[in-house]
Amino acid sequence: MALQFDLVVVGSGPGGYVAAIRASQLGLKVGVIERESLGGICLNWGCIPTKALLKSAQVFEYLNHAADYGLKAENVGYDFGAVIGRSRGVADGMSKGITFLFKKNKIETVMGTGKVLAPGKVEVTRADGTTELVEAKSIILATGTRARQLPTMPIDDVKIIGYRKAMTMERLPKRLVVVGSGAIGVEFAYFYRTMGSEVTLVEFLPRIVPVEDEEISRQMEKSFRKIGVNVLTSAEVTNVDTNGEGCKVTIKTAKGEQVIDCDVVLSAVGVTTNLENIGIEELGIKVERGRLVVDDFYQTNVPGVYAIGDITPGPALAHVASAEGIICVEKIAGHHPEPLNYQNIPGCTYASPEIASVGYTEAEAKEKGYDVLVGKFPFSASGKASAAGVKDGFVKVIFDKKYGEWLGAHMIGANVTELIAEVVVARKLETTGHEIIKSVHPHPTMSEAIMEAAAAAYGEVIHL
Ligand SMILES: Cc1cc2nc3c(=O)[nH]c(=O)nc-3n(C[C@H](O)[C@H](O)[C@H](O)COP(=O)(O)OP(=O)(O)OC[C@H]3O[C@@H](n4cnc5c(N)ncnc54)[C@H](O)[C@@H]3O)c2cc1C
Repeated sequence: MALQFDLVVVGSGPGGYVAAIRASQLGLKVGVIERESLGGICLNWGCIPTKALLKSAQVFEYLNHAADYGLKAENVGYDFGAVIGRSRGVADGMSKGITFLFKKNKIETVMGTGKVLAPGKVEVTRADGTTELVEAKSIILATGTRARQLPTMPIDDVKIIGYRKAMTMERLPKRLVVVGSGAIGVEFAYFYRTMGSEVTLVEFLPRIVPVEDEEISRQMEKSFRKIGVNVLTSAEVTNVDTNGEGCKVTIKTAKGEQVIDCDVVLSAVGVTTNLENIGIEELGIKVERGRLVVDDFYQTNVPGVYAIGDITPGPALAHVASAEGIICVEKIAGHHPEPLNYQNIPGCTYASPEIASVGYTEAEAKEKGYDVLVGKFPFSASGKASAAGVKDGFVKVIFDKKYGEWLGAHMIGANVTELIAEVVVARKLETTGHEIIKSVHPHPTMSEAIMEAAAAAYGEVIHL
């Protein structure tokens, strides 16, 4: 007898598990198929364990700068295994939390690898090779991604590692080359540099964190150089020789070729979708540039089969996957959800300083033809930042001159990943710059920098 559900979700990452819980709230009988650990990459190998590692690095950095606060912290050190252990413990705890939430919401978990056989039918292959048929009116695919590999850098998890190994290393590498300066590369570069590794960060494009506003990239590079990260931009890794004791990394730049010796290379060059053996070819589900083609409510071209999260177009972020999951199941349940506004998705990088942004960069806004008003407020002028000893960074805001529409916000500094939500909400409510300036922000807080940046755009800034 096949297991019967109204909805079956393949994959339990932040797309899949959130969709399952919302569907259960809406009265659907839900099953979730997962081949590894509940919570997907985000809880087990992504967002959460990296933030635990970064917190250890940040506390270590604070202790090393205790004297700046009039404090004494002598013989500051660490147990690298305990740092890794803490991160794994936090991840395990979060994954167990999903088990609890599934029980609470009466969601059945089927452990194994799912493959769609036909609309309404999924075969699950368990770890012991046995199979089970699952039937459901609707199927959501949420199988996520894994590390992308370049032919010049095949991941062996010894000398050339991916993100999973980077968060479970047995010991600190003395010399590390990080290839790729997106959020993942930058976060690991900060972590390992702060813990004491010699770190080279290699970026193919002309600037690090290349999706961010140019001024953010410049500030991040400055901050990284200050802590001793060797930053190479417009640089291409053409070869990694792993034959000797360590690795010899050949890097081509405009100035010529250089070879960097290191113990380990971290390949952080993006992710690739898990679309193999899930039945998409057999069902004829449309794929474009490695992602499943879906409509505004995540329906694929095959009726009854939906797809959400990293395997669909749009930014590969946990909060995007969750938002898509909720919209998808609300539509399945007969509600009338609004399509997701992909222009109002915040993106965050949790190194130190942190980066947070939403909307257009200044260059993009100008390219789109907007006459822009730009305001910037540096944390060096913020009372809270001075008191906290975190004066690096700024908030930059971009408004449309004509109607006052808030086109974008870009921040770098301490805790800015917490500040960006204000901008997301304000933009969702179609708030203009003047309404921000007239919204009283608490003093002293880092959030005042948003109000001041908006005021700067309109020539009304007080503290500059
Ligand atoms: C190092 C790192 C740090 C990150 N940090 C952040 C961050 O700070 N903030 C942020 O927003 N995003 C972050 N991300 C991205 C985030 O993790 C992803 O965007 C998010 O996890 C995508 O969710 P998802 O549900 O689409 O898929 P995933 O989380 O990838 O989950 C997919 C699940 O499907 C399972 N699966 C796959 N195939 C099958 C199958 N055939 N049968 C059964 N199960 C299957 C997998 O085992 C997995 O559990 C990070 C990613 C990495 C790698």
